[in-house]
Formats: sequence, C-alpha cells, structure tokens
Amino acid sequence: MQAKLIDGKALAAQVKAEAAAEAAALKAKGVTPCLAVVLVGEDPASQVYVRGKAKDCGECGIDSRVIRLPEATTQAELLALVAELAADRAVNGILVQLPLPAHIDEKAVIDAIPPEKDVDGFSPVNVGRMQIGEPCYLPCTPAGCVRMIESTGASIDGKHAVVIGRSNIVGKPAALLLLAKNATVTICHSHTANLKELCRSADILVAAVGKAGFVTGDMVKPGAVVIDVGINRGADGKLHGDVDFAAAAEKAAFITPVPGGVGPMTRAMLMKNTVQAAALQNGLA
Ligand code: NAD
Repeated sequence: MQAKLIDGKALAAQVKAEAAAEAAALKAKGVTPCLAVVLVGEDPASQVYVRGKAKDCGECGIDSRVIRLPEATTQAELLALVAELAADRAVNGILVQLPLPAHIDEKAVIDAIPPEKDVDGFSPVNVGRMQIGEPCYLPCTPAGCVRMIESTGASIDGKHAVVIGRSNIVGKPAALLLLAKNATVTICHSHTANLKELCRSADILVAAVGKAGFVTGDMVKPGAVVIDVGINRGADGKLHGDVDFAAAAEKAAFITPVPGGVGPMTRAMLMKNTVQAAALQNGLA
C-alpha cells in the first residue's frame, strides 16, 4: 500500500474535542446544548446509530434525549412529537433517525423540523442555504468528507472532484461543498455513461454508491484522494466500503478505511452542529 490512511477515528476525536470545548464554553454561560433523537421502530442498524449518537453527546458534554417510539406509531403522532420538541426551548437539535417505517412520509417529518433545529441539515431551508452559500447546518456526512480531504493538506481548489452518487443526503451535498471549495465537480450516477474514465481523471474521488467494491483499482488516478462513504454489510457479516481498498490504496495518495473512516466523522460533525445550534438559539454564536 502506498496511500496514506485518513484516520477517521482520530480526526473524529479531534472534532469531538472541539465540540466539547465549545459546549463547555456555552455551559459556562448557562447553556447546555441538547440533542433530541427520535427512533421509530426496531431497525437494528438504526438502534446502533442512535446509541452511538447518545454516547457521542455524553463525551462532548451535550445533553441527549432519546425518544423511542413503536413501529406502529402513526405519522400524526410523530409529527406531534416533532412539534413538541420544536417548541421546547431546552432542545437545540432534533434528529429523526431514518429510515422511517414505510407508512410514514419521511419528507413530511423532515419538513416539520424547524430549520434552526435541523442539525442533520436535511430540511429544504438548510439545503437551499447551503446551495447559495449562506450560513447553515452542513449535512454531517458530506461535511465530514470535506474535513477529511482538508486534513490531508491536499488542496481542493482547482482540482477535479468526482462524486459517485447523487442522493440528497450524501452525493449532491458532497458535490456542492466541494464546488464551494472551488473544485471542478463531476457527479456520476447510475445513468452515467463513461463512469470509469471520469473517475480515472479525479484528483478527489468520493464514492457514495452503496455497492461493495464498486470502485476498482483501475478507476483511481495515481495520487488521488479517495473518500469511501459506502457502508455495505457483506455476507461475512463485516462492513465493506464502496471502494476496493487494497487495489485503490496502491494508486491513491490518501484513502479512508471502512470502518473507521467517514462513519465516525459523520457522528462527530453532528456534535459540532448541535453545539452550533445551541449557540445560535441563545444569541451566543
Ligand atoms: P442512495 O442509495 O440514496 O444513493 C446511491 C447513489 O448511487 C444513487 O444516487 C445512484 O445514482 C448511485 N448509483 C447506484 N448504482 C450506481 C452505479 N451502478 N453507477 C453509478 N452510480 C450508481 O445511497 P446514499 O444514502 O447516498 O448512501 C450511499 C452509501 O453511503 C451507502 O452505502 C450508505 O450506507 C453509505 N452512507 C454512509 C454514511 C456514513 O456516515 N459513512 C452516511 C450515509 C450513507
């Protein structure tokens, strides 16, 4: 392997330490940041994520309120809870763990979270603000990706960044954030004709596809920075990224591992957003 590893765990610890220092400064002014996490149903992966978020809050000096609701919760009941949390001045951030059960309209629920408490950065107002470069909560996964790229010391400005995937929560916002850093950005997706060639010209390659080993070694430009967002559970029960790590690491200059890469950074960025929300809501930003 020639690539240097971008250690998501170490960088996440650094970001969480920043959040903890900011939370302590707020506490000294009488404000304790608080994140409410709502979990509907019994999805095992979601349960793990929610436990992780509560643990992160504890480590950063942020209060957490985890509200677990049964699978049969109606949309009206969930919306009523979101309205209650929206009105609660002690709650600074509201996160509804996705995916929601099929009988609930995710969009309606996300839309019900007021923009100032939307620490996931998924609501239309936050997305719009990000698009035009106004202050907003940046979506945690893409913001974590950018922080990881910057941690390498490699410049983003003027580079060709290729993002594979165009979801609203990863691909599209990752492309926008890289554009805001003056990269020349190409978004690839399931209908892209010459995907391999485009990837091969990428100085920065962000893979957010959801297919294990999708990015093969021959798709990586020598010296590239490779960010693997994918989390795919293999038949072996282990987590695999979207990138063939061993082959890509032979070519890249920097690469993120899975696990231990983008995942921990996503969690850490949520802590930053929650502290930022508490500061903004209390006129202390
Ligand atoms: P998604 O399914 O919403 O989007 C996948 C995207 O990949 C789509 O835009 C689609 O066009 C594209 N795609 C699918 N097949 C393709 C192909 N053959 N060629 C080119 N593009 C193709 O998924 P998502 O929510 O964006 O998540 C992507 C991956 O990232 C998943 O593995 C998910 O688990 C992971 N993820 C990780 C984190 C984290 O914290 N590390 C956070 C969110 C998502």
